[in-house]
Amino acid sequence: MKIAVKKGDDMHLHLRRGQILRSVIGFTSSQFKRAVIMPNTGPPILTAKDAVAYRDEIMQYQVGDFQPLMTIQVTDCTTPAMIEEAKEAGVVAGKVYPQGVTTNSQNGIANFKAIYPALREMQNQQMLLLLHGESPDPEVFCLDREEVFLSTLANLAGDFPELKIVLEHITTEKAVLAVKKFENVAATITAHHLLLTLDDVIGNLISPHNFCKPIAKRPEDRWTLRQAAISGNPKFFYGGDSAPHAKEMKECSNGCAGIFNAPVALPLLAQIFAKYSGFSFLNDFISKFGADFYGLPQTKETIILAEKDWPVPNEYDGIVPFMAGKTLRYQVID
Ligand SMILES: [Zn+2]
Repeated sequence: MKIAVKKGDDMHLHLRRGQILRSVIGFTSSQFKRAVIMPNTGPPILTAKDAVAYRDEIMQYQVGDFQPLMTIQVTDCTTPAMIEEAKEAGVVAGKVYPQGVTTNSQNGIANFKAIYPALREMQNQQMLLLLHGESPDPEVFCLDREEVFLSTLANLAGDFPELKIVLEHITTEKAVLAVKKFENVAATITAHHLLLTLDDVIGNLISPHNFCKPIAKRPEDRWTLRQAAISGNPKFFYGGDSAPHAKEMKECSNGCAGIFNAPVALPLLAQIFAKYSGFSFLNDFISKFGADFYGLPQTKETIILAEKDWPVPNEYDGIVPFMAGKTLRYQVID
């Protein structure tokens, strides 16, 4: 059986640079028309000039009509003039990492008041604010970091009522409730957080390829995330947070956080939505709600999936994909 689904938007993607970028870009460009490209590369994307150079690097690969939607990282060095220049260069959003919460976030924010001038300008320029929503306080227990961050979200949503805010890769019931509460806030949900709980990371043997930030939480949280994703609420849309690391950076002491799900994104989403709600809801989740929130036209193209068992490869160019070695029920047909 074949199913046509929308070739839509991945509203949260890490592509890295250089060799990894070259290895991974095709997985997303073949399944999605657009993706919001995260700026926490090494070195980070901080200015309009950085974003243009990064976009040029992405476009030099055979990406067809794929459109990278560029972001800059907002730090306490980001001035209103830098925001204005970024907007002029086509940058759609500013990403804020609290200090030290994930890969390459050493230069993140310790005090949000320090970036209020930049946020005010983003509000003026209708540039979105994307938040990694975890408390940077090392005293906060890892499973509570998202919940503790929600008071910061409330302050930002209240202080900048015209600023569109995306709480990225939410993992908890509390986050779902907070997103529903604030009119100017939406959220991305990954495919892996619709499937995993903490048990899949450390419940039996350690599974480094299921380890990401924010870490997968309790079964009740997963249930609430699924309800949010599959129920047709326009505040929740797809952001895959595919975050490739070389195998040896994952399978070691001090292993990196990040799940490389780009190769399996659409087959996995199809499997989840087929089980819980259906493909019309999937199309809204990947091509309507995110585009609407970003103020972008909805994509028109479709892509064909076959309902056919697909054993997921163990590695692509030394990077282990999510669901490696497992069999998915759908696969993308070229
Ligand atoms: Zn991310």
